[in-house]
Amino acid sequence: MGSLTRKEVEYLKAVFDLTSNRDLASSLDIANNLGVSCATASETLKRLSEKGLVIREPWKGVRLSELGFKEINKIVRNHRVFETYAHKVLLVSLNEACECARRIEMYLSEEIVNSMCRILGHPKKCPHNKDIPRGIPCCVRE
Ligand SMILES: [Zn+2]
Ligand SMILES: [Zn+2]
Repeated sequence: MGSLTRKEVEYLKAVFDLTSNRDLASSLDIANNLGVSCATASETLKRLSEKGLVIREPWKGVRLSELGFKEINKIVRNHRVFETYAHKVLLVSLNEACECARRIEMYLSEEIVNSMCRILGHPKKCPHNKDIPRGIPCCVRE
């Protein structure tokens, strides 16, 4: 996991969000989502597929590999649990909570995130009303 760069995380998050309700995300959708050119997006997606994080279907788009999903699902969980905690318990504005979450989401330990999750009562949605990935066994056993 330490081998993911910030940029790769941004791409994986875009694929994660774009494929939450469909099978594939096109390079164009990803480029638009990230505000980069289509050529840049295609190039980075090619690198991500060489690292085994996404699967490319020629002319159609990409989806997360099992490994890519595992990695990004954890980072999204870290982000959303942290921003929910910062907003609801620390009473920090949602903007500040989200911005700070973006900076530290790759570095939070599972123990800390699960502890925040427990204090919050295992929330299903973050304050942006996006799904918080369930922690196993943090949220699932209860
Ligand atoms: Zn956020
Ligand atoms: Zn939980």
